[in-house]
Amino acid sequence: MFIVFRCRCGQHLYAREEAKSRTCPCGRRLDLGKVLILARADDAREAGDIVRHLQMDGRQTTGFRPAGQ
Ligand SMILES: [Zn+2]
Repeated sequence: MFIVFRCRCGQHLYAREEAKSRTCPCGRRLDLGKVLILARADDAREAGDIVRHLQMDGRQTTGFRPAGQ
């Protein structure tokens, strides 16, 4: 599983659920135990799709549902 989350700089990122941390392009090192998880995905491609949608949306989204509402 992959998790999708957001850095304080506004960048949306994804990482493997079992990872401990992820470094954002802005330079912040994010502790994955503390981030707000916006979505979960089965694989990297789906996680990438979710991140792209969130970036296009340009606003914070919680409870994201990939298919319909
Ligand atoms: Zn950042």
